[in-house]
Amino acid sequence: MAGPYETHEHDVLIVGAGGAGLRAAIEARGEGASVALVCKSLLGKAHTVMAEGGVAAALGNVEPKDNWQAHFRDTMRGGKMLNNWRMAQLHAQEAGACVHELEAWGALFDRTPDGRILQRNFGGHTYPRLAHVGDRTGLEMIRTLQDRVIHTGVSIYMECTIYRLLTSGGRVVGAVGYWRESGKVVVFRAKSTVLATGGIGKAWRITSNSWEYTGDGHSMAYQAGADLLDMEFVQFHPTGMVWPPSVRGILITEGVRGEGGVLKNSKDERFMFRYVPEVNKGEYAESEEETREWLHQTELNQAGKLKDVTARRPPELLTRDVVAKAINKEVKEGRGSPHGGVFLDVASQRTAEEIQRKLPSMYHQFKELAGVDITKEPMEVGPTCHYVMGGIRVDADTAAATIPGLYAAGESAAGLHGANRLGGNSLSDLLVFGRRAGRFAARAAKALPAMPELDDSELEGFVQGIAAPLEREEGESPFEVHKTLQTVMEAHVGIIRNRAELEKGLAELAKLKARTSRVKATGTRVFNPGWHLALDLESMLTVSEACARAALAREESRGGHTREDFPETRAEFAGFNHVIKKGAEGPVVRREMLPPMPAELKALIGGK
Ligand code: FAD
Repeated sequence: MAGPYETHEHDVLIVGAGGAGLRAAIEARGEGASVALVCKSLLGKAHTVMAEGGVAAALGNVEPKDNWQAHFRDTMRGGKMLNNWRMAQLHAQEAGACVHELEAWGALFDRTPDGRILQRNFGGHTYPRLAHVGDRTGLEMIRTLQDRVIHTGVSIYMECTIYRLLTSGGRVVGAVGYWRESGKVVVFRAKSTVLATGGIGKAWRITSNSWEYTGDGHSMAYQAGADLLDMEFVQFHPTGMVWPPSVRGILITEGVRGEGGVLKNSKDERFMFRYVPEVNKGEYAESEEETREWLHQTELNQAGKLKDVTARRPPELLTRDVVAKAINKEVKEGRGSPHGGVFLDVASQRTAEEIQRKLPSMYHQFKELAGVDITKEPMEVGPTCHYVMGGIRVDADTAAATIPGLYAAGESAAGLHGANRLGGNSLSDLLVFGRRAGRFAARAAKALPAMPELDDSELEGFVQGIAAPLEREEGESPFEVHKTLQTVMEAHVGIIRNRAELEKGLAELAKLKARTSRVKATGTRVFNPGWHLALDLESMLTVSEACARAALAREESRGGHTREDFPETRAEFAGFNHVIKKGAEGPVVRREMLPPMPAELKALIGGK
């Protein structure tokens, strides 16, 4: 029983209504399960709606040479071989069908001249692979999935924050949360629970992520005893806005570079030519002329007038980790733009009409937020915390977490992207594994004869935890603690790390943990952002500590994780993941070898 609290019972509870949650809900409902879909904000306001550049799938519409094998290879190489190979295989094989399925459900992608889905270039993808809708791909995806979900009989609970997973007899049996508007407690009982809560970026000061990304799903899974994986791998996207200060961190899609945008420093140098890693030498253009030829061939190719693009790709399309670190170095060495970034110039590469047609959101974003006309002037850009590759450890085929009754998909799950995610691979990730999570969660629920009982004392403890920040007589403001946390993570667990900084960061996090246990939210339970933040802080601290501990343990640089005291990728750190589990004193990090990859997949990756 659930005491005096409002209680809902469903076969499957899905926490999070972004792309992963919506896709899981459609699938679980299709399997005949009764489904609850819960989200912190209004339906449709998840991060997925913000996705700009596109969804990666080897459809081969623009470049017939593309296939799942090439997508698999690019994903593994981008992830620096720490990816779960089975997830990378399933993702590459199933992404195309998932995109076609979206189209069948009404998504209107941009088109090739002969009416097929158009695909654009993105960093790390060998071929133009991103299906897109201008630079508003996420909006079209959410619109389509939402439309589908509301016609399938899924029960939707909006503006409801889940606080903790409920466990009993070693399995997850639902969750407890509160209505954001009234502050009242609500309990969900379920045979299977899917976490699709997105990322963790709000723990950093400069971020492309919105208020919802506080790592709740990661933290809830960890608190319930599930494994997290590879939390050191946080992606800093190379191009966030740097000016004005109020919009610092807001994303500028990689689509700008995919459409030919070039990066320059204050000396007007196209500096990326100097940053092509040894391993990629020969694959990227070495001169301006070559990149002009690439752009020309790409235009002809997209217009259906040229079959093969033979020119080498511009170095601006190297993977995000490489570009972000290059920008960081240029700024550090005094060649930055006036506000501490570099310049991204698409105006010199494309006509004003093309920019407004292909990048409408970017045009409006800069016009309205910065007073910059990107059809005439360059943008000022710099790295911004964007995505977490680490997350809840799942089984590749079923999306099951490491405790019974729990599943995870989308950005909250780990494995597919290894040490670094390629752009566009998140939207395909959430379709492929959202579908799998929904399917296997529903099937497991069907196999369970009765609704599992709750542990009343555990529930009571969580209900008290929810109320605690309001009930303290006095205490610090949660806003102050959050501000300090963001500064600590930016300064000590940021894009470039070292042992001393990480140790300092962990010491600061310990102090913040103590401060968080004493924060006081003023006011009542009725729509109270301070109280909500006080509870979110617990999640942010959990993921921050997991990230810092894993980063300290990985004494090398690989993908999204850069140690200036260990600048090289080290052979002794290849081949294993970091598994993170709750211990008595906080997160405990241990190494676990990756399972061996079948020879036929290994052969696809080649020597690099
Ligand atoms: P989300 O879409 O963020 O959904 C999370 C859901 O969980 C929300 O409904 C939220 O309300 C809910 N939630 C969270 N915590 C709780 C809680 N405690 N209780 C209840 N509900 C909760 N990727 C690409 O592949 N291509 C792109 O072009 C691209 N562009 C991007 C542009 C921007 C600006 C950003 C920020 C990201 C972009 N990404 C892109 C990344 C991609 O959008 C995200 O990784 C992806 O959408 C995550 O989807 P999700 O379903 O896992 O989570």
